[in-house]
Amino acid sequence: MIIFTKIEQLHPYLEAQRKQNKNIGFVPTMGALHQGHISLIKQSKNSCDITVCSIFVNPTQFNDKNDLARYPRMPEKDTDLLKNGDCDVLFLPSINEIYPKKNTSNFDFGYLDKILEGEHRPGHFNGVAQVVKRFFEIIQPHKAFFGSKDYQQVMIVKALVKQMNSKIEIIACPILREADGLAMSSRNALLSEDERQIASIIPKLMMEAKLTLNKNGIEAAKAIVIKQLSELKQVKLDYYEICSANTLCALDDFHKNEKAISLIAVFVGKIRLIDNLELN
Ligand code: AMP
Repeated sequence: MIIFTKIEQLHPYLEAQRKQNKNIGFVPTMGALHQGHISLIKQSKNSCDITVCSIFVNPTQFNDKNDLARYPRMPEKDTDLLKNGDCDVLFLPSINEIYPKKNTSNFDFGYLDKILEGEHRPGHFNGVAQVVKRFFEIIQPHKAFFGSKDYQQVMIVKALVKQMNSKIEIIACPILREADGLAMSSRNALLSEDERQIASIIPKLMMEAKLTLNKNGIEAAKAIVIKQLSELKQVKLDYYEICSANTLCALDDFHKNEKAISLIAVFVGKIRLIDNLELN
């Protein structure tokens, strides 16, 4: 695996690959890597000649300074994981490399960045779009791989690519989970042992709500999640919504022939976790 920290070194390397007609796959991450990230690397390796992974904790997508300060950073462990995953290139840029000038670009995603994560984390998706656009311009990949755990993010990135008039293919990859069902996340490492155990209620409740949804409808499904989480004092529900999987607009009724998805954000102690579950 080759490690680059400077664009001026990465560029000629990628240019040489393109000249040999090699397909470039890109996996952007914020580090503290786990098997969910590695599954994206594997998907890229399956369909591209060269896989580039970036690790960059993007300050512009954090609306909460404490969240940014406590975000886990473990570059050595990450490097080992990527080497074992046969990643070809690791790009580890500094903040100055990504944002040489104060980046003030503003994007318009209509309603999409104002609901769910966008509503609860103001400015988050603008920051995501800033960094993803910058990486796309630097790396110019053929394909970019994103996890469906961040379902709304995938939709934002697809909208961004359209706005950029870009041909980059966005591939959404399945959510990898721990043995007890908790979605893998870099933030899981910040949970205490107790909190980690409590967090496993999230996927279980989502499954329970899915069963209720089929029998008793949306309001009953939501009530289960709200009630059970309100009984746990270490947990605070940020939102639980049942939405169209195509538009992310909240659904009033559930029809089996309309693709639907439930999305949740929960604080376990101080740590905010998100997850989602397809409902059809
Ligand atoms: P992050 O480092 O959290 O910004 O995530 C980098 C990429 O990995 C994003 O596209 C995430 O959606 C994806 N990802 C994070 N967790 C998982 C998971 N449990 N399964 C699959 N992909 C994931």
